[in-house]
Amino acid sequence: MLEFTQVYKRYSTPQGPLQVLENVSLTLAPGQSLALMGESGSGKSTLLHLAAGLDLPDQGHICLAGQNLASLAESARAKLRREQLGLVFQQFHLIPSLTVIDNLRLQARLAKRDDANWSAHLIERLGLKGLEKRYPEQLSGGQQQRLAIGRALAPRPALLLADEPTGNLDETTADEVLELLLSLVRETQCALMVVTHSPQVAAPLDRCLRLRHGQLASSALL
Ligand code: ADP
Ligand code: MG
Repeated sequence: MLEFTQVYKRYSTPQGPLQVLENVSLTLAPGQSLALMGESGSGKSTLLHLAAGLDLPDQGHICLAGQNLASLAESARAKLRREQLGLVFQQFHLIPSLTVIDNLRLQARLAKRDDANWSAHLIERLGLKGLEKRYPEQLSGGQQQRLAIGRALAPRPALLLADEPTGNLDETTADEVLELLLSLVRETQCALMVVTHSPQVAAPLDRCLRLRHGQLASSALL
């Protein structure tokens, strides 16, 4: 599903080049789940951006759904993203001018996989029934993130990438939202890579990797 082979990434900064990822290799098979941990600034978001083809590595290869991202034109990468990936970020990134139901169905429509029955099922699972005509600003933070998760899963992506998806929520809400995310991932059988600081989130997943000084190590949880 996703394969990194000896990936290197550096940024240029006013202080000079900053090596963020060094010789990172990993494989995520279809339906597998992976927690990515590591201190702030260790390169977790960079790794997810590369996985999504939002940026390209300096060296090494990244294959998503069997395609080498660097060999694709920007438009082909965007198409692959639409068809294969769900993305969830710490900021919810909902569209303020669209209702709940239209936000939910947006990605599915873009991927030409809109399915009214599946959307209705998701709305129910997300606890958003009765709120379909509201706008994002009329929802709580937890409801907004549940909607963002539903939007990402509505096209039935093969892989969900989630970058600290509950970083903006209080602890109780965060636990509920994550539990829902994991349960929906199991239901849709998509693969998952989630950046998290929480050992409880990582525990039920197939694998946990930790980034340290730009390098990956598999991690015991605590
Ligand atoms: P994490 O998500 O683990 O906190 P990031 O991948 O966001 O880490 O960032 C890793 C390092 O790269 C940090 O030191 C950050 O400041 C730096 N960085 C991230 N994006 C850029 C960029 N576009 N330009 C320059 N430096 C960046
Ligand atoms: Mg980050």
